[in-house]
Amino acid sequence: MSQYILDGHKLAWHRERVEAWLKGERIAPITIDCALTRRCSYNCVYCYGKLQQNDEKKMTRDVIFRFLDDAAKIGVKAVSFVSDGESTCSPYLKDAILRGRENGLDMALGTNGFLLNPDELEDILPALTYLRFNVSAGEADRYARIHGVSKKCFYRVIDTIRQSVRIKKQKKLDVTLGMQMVLMPEFSDQIIPLTELSRDLLVDYLVIKHCSDDEKGSLGVDYSKYHALMEILKKAESYSTDKFQVSAKWSKIFSDGKRSYSRCFGPPFILQMSGSGLVAPCGMLFNSQYSKYHIGNIVETSFKEIWESERYWQVMDLIASEKFDARTMCGCLCLQHKVNEHLDSIKALGEVPALHSGLPPMHKNFI
Ligand code: SF4
Ligand code: SF4
Repeated sequence: MSQYILDGHKLAWHRERVEAWLKGERIAPITIDCALTRRCSYNCVYCYGKLQQNDEKKMTRDVIFRFLDDAAKIGVKAVSFVSDGESTCSPYLKDAILRGRENGLDMALGTNGFLLNPDELEDILPALTYLRFNVSAGEADRYARIHGVSKKCFYRVIDTIRQSVRIKKQKKLDVTLGMQMVLMPEFSDQIIPLTELSRDLLVDYLVIKHCSDDEKGSLGVDYSKYHALMEILKKAESYSTDKFQVSAKWSKIFSDGKRSYSRCFGPPFILQMSGSGLVAPCGMLFNSQYSKYHIGNIVETSFKEIWESERYWQVMDLIASEKFDARTMCGCLCLQHKVNEHLDSIKALGEVPALHSGLPPMHKNFI
């Protein structure tokens, strides 16, 4: 079995919460994925965050701390700063990671790495479960094109990754250091160069993922073209060793962007929050045009109050109802997709299948 589950979900290790949900209880999310800002200094060709404009409010240190305190209080287990804006653009990133960790939350960061302050690595790495660098090319000129920045950004990010690996080794830290390629079919020439770069940087894993698109196909991803990449992705995975895992998200890459379910049950377990402070079920519904699904804003109302509000459960019930059809009303391959598939089968079954017999996976609380 792979060391990290990078193409699946971890709900089997959260049986109690799944059972509570099945009984109709109002559960706290296991994982919240959010951002501390909507800003970003990059201009990646596949940026989904840019399609999700919504009214930005000021995420101050106090607002962020109140959210992290509330999250721990209501029983959230893990918070990742991954989606939406680039959280390294917030001056409160380090404080937020440390506060969350002090509160007993598992914390994680996904970043392009450019503004990650090397002087802060020694402080934040021990507090993180994982740090993942989004690098979608293995060569500087292709990196510059794909990420919409200059070539020197590539070298700076690579240096920050190197320093992170060095600190992890020196301090014998548990943090997982990963790299992620967002693969559009036209980036296939970069799969092997990036795999070799990741291996040489001595990170723990490289994950190669699909590119999500919205329901209008604004990014122009041609999902049919992924099928021709099977062999090269297999070749990339063959670089895996007992210390370095390369995984392609096979199930999503080869799904043709289609779903097997229409109702959406995942967000009560894995909720997303915009860098604007907006609480919505998922990142694909952040755009102001989806205000029908917007629940509240943590700048104006505490997260605990939002979670306890009728509005929160009205929205969750709406997307889980017959009135909602994720196959036609959503963008494709959302963060909650694998969790949704699993919950849909549990709903159909009417009971939670037997406990998983294996050891808990790495990063269990990032479901
Ligand atoms: S780094 Fe992330 S948020 Fe920034 S442009 Fe790229 S995809 Fe968008
Ligand atoms: S299925 Fe739709 S509503 Fe549900 S999480 Fe995915 S994108 Fe959001």
